[in-house]
Amino acid sequence: MDEKIFGLIGRKLGHSDSAIIHDKFGLKNYRLFEIEPDEIESFLNTPGLKGLNVTIPYKRDVIPFMDELSDEARSVGSVNTIVFKDGKKIGHNTDVYGLYYMAKRAGIDFDNKKVVIFGSGGASRAVIYAARKMGAREIVVVSRTGENNYENLHLHKDADILVNATPVGMYPNPEGSVVDPAYFEKAAGCMDLVYNPRLTDFLKLSKNAGKIAAGGLSMLVAQAKQAEEWFLDTEIDDGEIGRVLSEVARARTSIALVGMPGAGKTSIGRALSEISGLPVYDADAEIEKEAGMTIPEIMEKEGVPVFREREAQAVRRLSLLRGAIIALGGGAVLREDNRANLKRNCRVYQIARDVNLLPRDGRPLSKNLSEMEKERAPYYALARDVIVPNDGSIMDAAERIWRDFCENTRD
Ligand code: NAP
Repeated sequence: MDEKIFGLIGRKLGHSDSAIIHDKFGLKNYRLFEIEPDEIESFLNTPGLKGLNVTIPYKRDVIPFMDELSDEARSVGSVNTIVFKDGKKIGHNTDVYGLYYMAKRAGIDFDNKKVVIFGSGGASRAVIYAARKMGAREIVVVSRTGENNYENLHLHKDADILVNATPVGMYPNPEGSVVDPAYFEKAAGCMDLVYNPRLTDFLKLSKNAGKIAAGGLSMLVAQAKQAEEWFLDTEIDDGEIGRVLSEVARARTSIALVGMPGAGKTSIGRALSEISGLPVYDADAEIEKEAGMTIPEIMEKEGVPVFREREAQAVRRLSLLRGAIIALGGGAVLREDNRANLKRNCRVYQIARDVNLLPRDGRPLSKNLSEMEKERAPYYALARDVIVPNDGSIMDAAERIWRDFCENTRD
């Protein structure tokens, strides 16, 4: 039988979520094709191609090779889905559908609203098109080099809806937000097209300012659903988007374990790994590997501040992982940057154990545990999503965490 090829073309696809999303919608043989710019034309003539998604940087470059374009693709000037049918290549733009879904799911109503979009690339053009279709009254694009730019944001302080269509805050450089949404006091809805990390700084600041904050994963999953409908010439129930979204959100979120030294993070992490099949990382072990010394040796030779710096680097590295279990040192939550890094892609569990049961040996910072616990309690409270007592068996605690994680990790 002739092979039917489905997949994604782009230049660097190492961190793409497309294959897992299409797998969950039922398309099992979806492949990733990293190609160079001069290979586009010949690749698009590969025998057996049935459906392709297109990502950065080729969404415009493929247009000259299309036989037909959908209205959305033509208006947006960008193709992210190609259907190969009856010897023709038909270019679609499913980002527009993804944006409709993202707005609706979050309860952000564009009707008669002033929309401010940050960034002027391909995604921004899809937002302009979708906002217009959803009835926006006024649409402003803020660009670093445009008439509306980051120096004259005061002109648009009256925005109702803010959309980040820049890569600012995206993996592997998650720090930073293109603006502070709080500046736009009237804005009730904020959408960030970035989906990795799941909680960008733009979204965090939006939430802190009491606004509706919608992340880009719902758009990514919804646009994939429409692409798959085009690929297979079939209809997929809208309810499937919610199911796939929850499953992908869970697969792309990590579990972070924090708590006092000796509370059981490492053992519970191992037990959780057994239950879930997720890989487990121990921050202290990472620090020791990186330094080529044990933690007590680092403390003695380099001092506590250098240890904390090494720890912050390890936390940052580990927090970029998705779908992992991360056991952290007892003091990791003391730094604000560590707490912020963990929140981006992790559900954070504090393991709580009676201070009198905590071991003291081989832990250089664990001399006066009662005092330490009192001092650190507010930082654990800031860091955690859930507190889990470790007062039964290790397996009990691990099972409790896994149940909570499965029930509560969704987009
Ligand atoms: P892009 O073309 O690379 O960039 C978009 C625009 O962002 C640029 O044209 C630029 O506009 C602005 N920009 C770039 N770097 C910036 C910086 N350091 N500071 C401020 N502005 C900057 O990307 P795109 O294809 O439009 O995608 C934008 C984002 O949306 C990406 O993160 C992408 O992953 C995401 N996206 C998500 C989905 C989804 O399904 N969730 C779909 C499509 C795209 P100016 O030069 O005018 O300032």
